Amino acid sequence: MEDWDDSLAPAPKIPLSQRALGQGGARPAPYLDDLNPAQREAVEALDGPVLMLAGAGTGKTKALTSRIVHLLNMGKARPNEILSVTFTNKAAREMKLRVGRLLGDVAEGMAWMGTFHSLSVKILRRHAELVGLKSNFTILDTDDQLRLLKQLIAANNIDEKRWPARMMASIIDSWKNRALTPDRVPSGEAAAYNNRGTEIYEQYQERLRTLNATDFGDLLLHCVVIFQKHPDVLEQYQRWFRYILVDEYQDTNVAQYLWLRLLAQSHRNICCVGDDDQSIYGWRGAEVGNILRFEKDFPGAKVVRLEQNYRSTAHILAAASGVIAANAGRLGKTLWTAGEMGEKLRLIGHWDGEEEARWIGEEIEAAQRGRRNIHAVSLNQIAILVRASHQMRAFEDRFLTIGLPYRVIGGPRFYERQEIRDAMAYFRLAVSPEDDLAFERVVNLPKRGLGDKAQGDIQREARGLGLPLLEGARSLLARAGIGGKGAGQLRQFVEGVDRWHAAVVAASQSHIELAEIILDESGYTTMWQNDKTPEAAGRLENLKELVKALEQFDSLQGFLEHVSLIMENESEEAVEKVSIMTLHAAKGLEFPVVFLPGWEDGLFPSQRSMDESGKKGLEEERRLAYVGITRAEQLCTISFASNRRVYGQWQSQLPSRFIDELPEDHVAVLTPPGLYGGGYGAAAPSYGSSLEDRVGKADPYNSPGWKRMQDRATTRPMAQPREARAVTIDAAAVSSFVTGDRVFHQKFGYGDIVGIEGDKLHIEFDHAGAKMIVARWVVAAHEVGEVPF
Ligand code: ATP
Ligand code: MG
Repeated sequence: MEDWDDSLAPAPKIPLSQRALGQGGARPAPYLDDLNPAQREAVEALDGPVLMLAGAGTGKTKALTSRIVHLLNMGKARPNEILSVTFTNKAAREMKLRVGRLLGDVAEGMAWMGTFHSLSVKILRRHAELVGLKSNFTILDTDDQLRLLKQLIAANNIDEKRWPARMMASIIDSWKNRALTPDRVPSGEAAAYNNRGTEIYEQYQERLRTLNATDFGDLLLHCVVIFQKHPDVLEQYQRWFRYILVDEYQDTNVAQYLWLRLLAQSHRNICCVGDDDQSIYGWRGAEVGNILRFEKDFPGAKVVRLEQNYRSTAHILAAASGVIAANAGRLGKTLWTAGEMGEKLRLIGHWDGEEEARWIGEEIEAAQRGRRNIHAVSLNQIAILVRASHQMRAFEDRFLTIGLPYRVIGGPRFYERQEIRDAMAYFRLAVSPEDDLAFERVVNLPKRGLGDKAQGDIQREARGLGLPLLEGARSLLARAGIGGKGAGQLRQFVEGVDRWHAAVVAASQSHIELAEIILDESGYTTMWQNDKTPEAAGRLENLKELVKALEQFDSLQGFLEHVSLIMENESEEAVEKVSIMTLHAAKGLEFPVVFLPGWEDGLFPSQRSMDESGKKGLEEERRLAYVGITRAEQLCTISFASNRRVYGQWQSQLPSRFIDELPEDHVAVLTPPGLYGGGYGAAAPSYGSSLEDRVGKADPYNSPGWKRMQDRATTRPMAQPREARAVTIDAAAVSSFVTGDRVFHQKFGYGDIVGIEGDKLHIEFDHAGAKMIVARWVVAAHEVGEVPF
């Protein structure tokens, strides 16, 4: 067996000192005092299978964390012998922090706490060769996956218009979610993709292998295959992971379930916690049935039910329970709280999505200024949970205008940008030169005179030799099979990749330096420096930010892995910000104040989910509504708009059917603000302290300046400007500036003009520093400002 690192070395032994502590119960266990009897029962049943099946906010995650602490405290296992699976890497970090708070440094050693995917990557890197990969394999994103499939589909003479690559991708995913390798796809499904499904799947897997790459589904699938085919490897892990804990168990798919069962079947020390009402990943192959199977697979399992909710007020809890009651076939459970009734759940209709975003912005400002009877609301305590990520845009735009700091959680935003993906393709080539998809992406970027013909020649050469594209290029150069200007440039490119790869292998310099060298030597940075389009400056900024992001990792490979796994931009944690995220990403989290916008039929419940899965889809959407409401501790506001712009098209909307399922007694209907009056429940009493002090205030959202900026906006803003404190609308706003003018730029925020050169402005930005900006990319600050106070 190849290189086991220290963390997985010889059969573990619990030091005598720890065992003595455990047996004598010498260490006090204050964390147990914080638990109710049912939780305590689940925590103290350390050995054997345990299933905790309970509703939202009943302290499942808390009990799970306490259980880890207890295992360590009782000397049952060392930190790296506990395998704990959480829903996000963020959740894993939080858990580690909590364990750390109780037990100190010990938590540092919890090397095996993470998501199914991150844990699988770790295992797979050690045994890659068992599935025909090398340990430095790359993980493809969906974009690359599709590109690959398109090539295969074309090579098989299949009409991609009739049989889209996306369809094939989702079929492959669904097979992988069920741990089906090509040879195991049931004959009943052979008709998939015009009877060519399994064949393409097989070719696709083969192709991934030659590329030394995996897709997301492979991470788990390969592990399961290794465990099944190599009992010796499985046994080592079974011995190593003495205890297994799983949060959000309701969302595991078959592959994950098998992965767990294989690892746990010898010692059966497995504890799973979940809530069938929060199962929201059916579309990704999650099977609620796994919960029900648990007792069959692990006979004699202790099943603990929790009913007391510690998170939400009684009104919020009742509203959530009312909605979920409409679902059939639930395991069913009652939740109660010893807490206050609190404020009723609030419901409000708006004219359009922008008005909705504006209103929420005002509510947040009002809450911050103590206008709500929620104590000390900080921005970190506020979340906006949307059904679809396109809803985020309105909030980002609005908050940027009023200078309200926000973070988008769970969004691949930053890493999805073209320049970032290009740069990462270079990094990928440096780490693994056989990464043909990366090669294709950048071989002629910047332009190296390698057009379709030259690239086709490289492809043919490589295919003929059965080698990666880089080798194809090398061979073509060696036999002078490529001529003209391209030849010299291709040689430079190949030599560059060789050099960078050698540097990665030798680890001779810092990966940050190397990244900069790669971007410089490849000519990629220069390409944007010479670019005259208005976005170029922003792109260079992003590249800098990318290099900065590398500082948090110890290698390029570590970084690439992080990006493909997490795709979250979680820097600047210290700054207080409103969180914007999808309902899916909000699972397991809690916030004192929650806004749930966009409750409109078609958007939520999502039309697509209903079209694709009918009643089942609708029920999953309803569970999502339940997840949303139960995130709120003190104040929950649901809203909808009568009109919404979706991908540039205005659509009129009907309120979500879930709204009428809310139990009336627990809901306060607010009168919509503004002049429209077209909202919901016009007869209801007026509410909204935030409005009265805004009467007569100009609407910056309708200002010509804002609109102009919208028209110009080509990139999504990322950073937030400082708090806006500008003045009212001036209809006579001019576009010719003079030195001393105060201006606003969508990315860099507010700043002062300190010099003018033709159409270029020297601007001293409040936060982004000095920059040279083309005049048409900024507007006068007063055009986008408002007077909040
Ligand atoms: P979800 O289903 O949303 O994941 P959960 O069941 O995992 O919820 P937790 O997040 O563990 O619930 O707990 C919800 C809140 O209740 C947390 O703030 C937690 O600290 C608190 N809590 C849990 N158990 C107790 C308890 N016994 N006493 C006081 N507070 C508790
Ligand atoms: Mg939880």
